[in-house]
Amino acid sequence: VTLVVGGVPVGPPLPHLVANGLMLVGDAARQVDPLTGGGIANAMMAGRLAAEVAAQAIAAGDTSADALASYEERWLARRGHKMARNYRLKERFGPGQRTSPDFLRIFMVAVGGI
Ligand SMILES: Cc1cc2nc3c(=O)[nH]c(=O)nc-3n(C[C@H](O)[C@H](O)[C@H](O)COP(=O)(O)OP(=O)(O)OC[C@H]3O[C@@H](n4cnc5c(N)ncnc54)[C@H](O)[C@@H]3O)c2cc1C
Repeated sequence: VTLVVGGVPVGPPLPHLVANGLMLVGDAARQVDPLTGGGIANAMMAGRLAAEVAAQAIAAGDTSADALASYEERWLARRGHKMARNYRLKERFGPGQRTSPDFLRIFMVAVGGI
């Protein structure tokens, strides 16, 4: 039997995911759903967005934060705003309340994509 454990970043969203010559993706970008702890699908989707923007930036010879900003905008439009909402929902319930019927109802609605 092997015990596999680790931390999952379920804190508030980062203010920015890009800087000059730098793009954050996946756990490093806190792209985990704060309600579910799921981060694999988000990391894969964000990785694709980041790669598309990075390829264009490199081809244009400009990897400044401004040139990379469209990755951040696309992430927010696709998932980022929803992850921020899910963080706010999670924070309304203390750790001891996260098996309450109210929390579970919000969890089901949020996971259902509504
Ligand atoms: C116990 C546990 C269970 C989870 N279960 C689920 C689940 O069921 N569903 C789900 O969607 N999400 C789950 N998650 C979350 C999910 O695993 C992460 O959100 C996701 O893997 C993030 O992908 P990533 O590429 O950002 O990071 P990672 O998958 O952690 O990949 C980072 C990689 O970088 C490597 N690395 C680190 N430092 C260096 C270095 N200096 N040089 C080179 N390489 C380096 C690491 O070895 C690793 O391979 C779980 C997390 C944990 C801890």
